[in-house]
Amino acid sequence: MAQMHQYFPKLCPPSCGLEMNFRRIRTSARIQCLTLSEVEKITGGPGRYQATIRRHPRRVNNKCTACGACVEACPIQRPDELNCRMSSTKAIYLPFEMAYPLQFVVDGSACPGTECGKCVPACPYQAIDLQMKPETIEVEVQAAIWATGWDPFDAGKIDGLGFGTLPERDFPPHDGASRVAQRTHRREDSKAFGRQGNRKRGVRAVRRVAR
Ligand code: SF4
Ligand code: SF4
Repeated sequence: MAQMHQYFPKLCPPSCGLEMNFRRIRTSARIQCLTLSEVEKITGGPGRYQATIRRHPRRVNNKCTACGACVEACPIQRPDELNCRMSSTKAIYLPFEMAYPLQFVVDGSACPGTECGKCVPACPYQAIDLQMKPETIEVEVQAAIWATGWDPFDAGKIDGLGFGTLPERDFPPHDGASRVAQRTHRREDSKAFGRQGNRKRGVRAVRRVAR
């Protein structure tokens, strides 16, 4: 949802609906939101299940204010899945502008950890813990809903789009000014090609049709 530019039928940006639903989650005493988590096992029976949940390390704790100071210090770039890998973020990044919880995360597959460690002194709130370990928790629940979600369609499978073969726009590397720069690129795209001309939006429109 957060990846979409507009959604049908009102063609409104997803930010308003997301904001409303994140607020409902935040203020509900009955919802506990576990991010970076995978259900490993469910045992028990109807009305009384035990779920074993593995929580992957964020490497950033709850003191994070999303100030972005760590991004300046980080030397590693990684592809940005949110943008279909057409741009990049630093190894420590905010998944998207309205991320819930609003906390940065370290990509453990891109970050060399304490061998680098440049973000740790750069954080004014002592929020980065590069040695944070995975943990396993057990919760008792009355019911479980298996919501599979979906993966973006591989636009490279559609002949004629040239996806992956035609040269892509080079987005600037992620730094303090990059989001502003990317918005500027999008505005330039909109001016040059009209509302549907943004290449990124085009790929997303294909995804919606192809699903
Ligand atoms: S980890 Fe620290 S420096 Fe990075 S956004 Fe959070 S508070 Fe700011
Ligand atoms: S330790 Fe990892 S996240 Fe921190 S600055 Fe180095 S590469 Fe970036």
